[in-house]
Amino acid sequence: MSTLSRPIPSAGPFPAPAEQRDAPASEASAPLEASLPSRGIRRTAAIAALVGVAGIFGVDSSYRSSRSQEYEATWGSLSMPAFTPQDLTPGVMSKTFAQSLLEQRERYAARMDFLSGLSQETDRLSEKISALEKNRSGIHEISAIQQETDRIRTILRPASSAPLISSAELSAQFEATHGDVVSYAKELFHRVTGKQVPSSVVFTDSQLRTDRGGEIENFSQNVRYTKGEYAANLRTILHELGHAVYLGSETNESGWVPFGLGASTRNSMLLEECAAELFYLAAASYIEDPLLRKETGPLDSERIQDWLTGAPDTSHHHNEGFSLSDAYLELAGGNASAAYRMATASTSIDPRALAIVERNREMLRTGLSPTEMSERMLAAHSQLLKTVDALAERTSALTRTQALSKADGDK
Ligand SMILES: [Zn+2]
Repeated sequence: MSTLSRPIPSAGPFPAPAEQRDAPASEASAPLEASLPSRGIRRTAAIAALVGVAGIFGVDSSYRSSRSQEYEATWGSLSMPAFTPQDLTPGVMSKTFAQSLLEQRERYAARMDFLSGLSQETDRLSEKISALEKNRSGIHEISAIQQETDRIRTILRPASSAPLISSAELSAQFEATHGDVVSYAKELFHRVTGKQVPSSVVFTDSQLRTDRGGEIENFSQNVRYTKGEYAANLRTILHELGHAVYLGSETNESGWVPFGLGASTRNSMLLEECAAELFYLAAASYIEDPLLRKETGPLDSERIQDWLTGAPDTSHHHNEGFSLSDAYLELAGGNASAAYRMATASTSIDPRALAIVERNREMLRTGLSPTEMSERMLAAHSQLLKTVDALAERTSALTRTQALSKADGDK
């Protein structure tokens, strides 16, 4: 999946907050290069780094006021959350990581049970074949064994699926049905907030670095994304609009503080990523087309899993932010809009959300991870298929031998 990204600064010259100690090394060193939205901001960061702590607050307040003017010019007053996601129609729920992990475990147990049942059947068939190989008689039994072997083989070999539609064809199909991706993103924005995207916000098809699905620059007036697959672009644009909306919330700190300053900056960045993703999820809940909904997808479990299992997070806080989105989603009973409001109600992360993240980490630690589960299922499956192929070999060898000896006997 493409990286959804708003330019995120490096941690800067200041000590990381206490909770950053657990973070992978790469967390602290998001590339400054190419991630800064404008030369002016880069200069601000450079100045801040040079002048040290004494000068920070002066830079901070002028920086903050110029940026808030910039923001207000586009999005209006900061005094009220004008673009908050509204409550979804009842019944539209999003699956949480824990829920999908438990479901995957159930599926895994059921599948492994099923495969082990088939494996016992092949053991019995193998014994029968061995007996026949010794006795060299019983041709009728052979054909029954052959039928059984074929039956198991058919179960293990999935029927050839319908030809896959290419992603380009799929994108063309979505565009024909829903209009161009920017218009459709605007429509979903309208449905979830009840407001139009401000007309001064522009959407630019940019050739971003391949690891960046999108970004929002010049203080949320320009949403940049690399035009490509429709569903991925839709996801990116809604996520970036989520950043824009979050910037206008009273509780947001990250966007107003020059990069790398302030002990709460990292938490603020996490909350902003968390909010942006929950906004995406809330907006995506209004997608009616089931295929497009499936293609845009729920919260990215793979990235959450990566974060929880300690894989290096090279995603500028997205993996960690997504884990947090998932925790708020669980707190809000699966309602993405309610989760958004919960996550944006405070400048600090809800301890209950952190507890959920820790519990999820523990769930992965004490059980198999989704990746391990699917690897084991695949291994068990292909092992069994080999066994069945070997059985089929042996029965046809047996058939040939018996046909020969029958021919000999007939002479
Ligand atoms: Zn983001």
